[in-house]
Amino acid sequence: MQRALVTGGSGFIGSFLCLRLLEEGYGVICMDSLITGRKKNIEHLVQNKDFEFIESDITKPPKPQQKNIDLIFNLASPASPKDYLEYPLETLMANSIGVRNMLEIARANNAVFVQASTSEVYGDPLVSPQKEDYWGNVNPAGTRSCYDEGKRFAEALCFEYFNHKKTKVRVARIFNTYGPRMRENDGRVIPNFITQALLGRPITVYGKGDQTRSFCYVSDMVEGLLKLGAKDGLDGQTINLGNPNPRKIMEVAQMIREMCNSKSEIVGKDLPLDDPKTRQPDIGKAKSLLGFSPKVGMELGLAKTIEYFKNLKKLQA
Ligand code: UDP
Repeated sequence: MQRALVTGGSGFIGSFLCLRLLEEGYGVICMDSLITGRKKNIEHLVQNKDFEFIESDITKPPKPQQKNIDLIFNLASPASPKDYLEYPLETLMANSIGVRNMLEIARANNAVFVQASTSEVYGDPLVSPQKEDYWGNVNPAGTRSCYDEGKRFAEALCFEYFNHKKTKVRVARIFNTYGPRMRENDGRVIPNFITQALLGRPITVYGKGDQTRSFCYVSDMVEGLLKLGAKDGLDGQTINLGNPNPRKIMEVAQMIREMCNSKSEIVGKDLPLDDPKTRQPDIGKAKSLLGFSPKVGMELGLAKTIEYFKNLKKLQA
């Protein structure tokens, strides 16, 4: 049996990835510090004999059980703007020392290493859509730099392991992803708008709401990650993963209010510092190298996500 290590495996994307890997016949070790991940996200997996949970921080020295590993998905890092602003040093350490520790496990096991990078490496992009060869427009001393520069450093580390130690590294630049199991308080736009709409509270649009994001449903993202990890011949590649259809934030607010049958008013709030104006992946490379093609449209994806939030006890009060 092939064994996969998923760091950040109790997080939003990680928990879905763990399940898909089990379905594909992998033994799965899920490692999470639970700083932003939740045990609840994996409670349906813990009975599975091929699943193991280790509560540990990737910045700590690797443990002896991290042997006989064929594939590593390194997803461990705070990832929402609210989370990384709350944990800036932890974010920087996870993306430097933490990534180094995980690369060392990959090297020792001759395992494939998939690094979860981010569209944030493009910063506030001056070109759209963003292709992998775009260098980005990042403020190195801004409020988001712990994440943006952390992830850029992580990519640099990955490539030096690939170039100098022949580690089988692949980098996924993950664009905005949404779906069930996002934390209702993680501060990102979709959980914010859905919880506000369901509770009849004002829906908070930052700025004019004319900034765009391209939202990918979680199952599509997980398929892309799986392909990136499982296919041969991809070592050293950086690949955008996301849904290429941009939406204005105001449009998303209106859509969610309507789908939730909500009477919430839409209110304007200050735009956070360094909030990118646009974000849209060019997924040509993912299409040609992975056969990646997102299938879940925004209406269906939002319906499933709203259903999940409706069933949360906290939102039923
Ligand atoms: N946003 C918003 N209202 C909210 C939360 C976010 O208008 O309650 C905006 C935010 O300013 C950004 C976009 O929605 O322009 C996406 O924000 P998110 O935090 O989800 O992710 P980002 O793409 O900025 O990392």
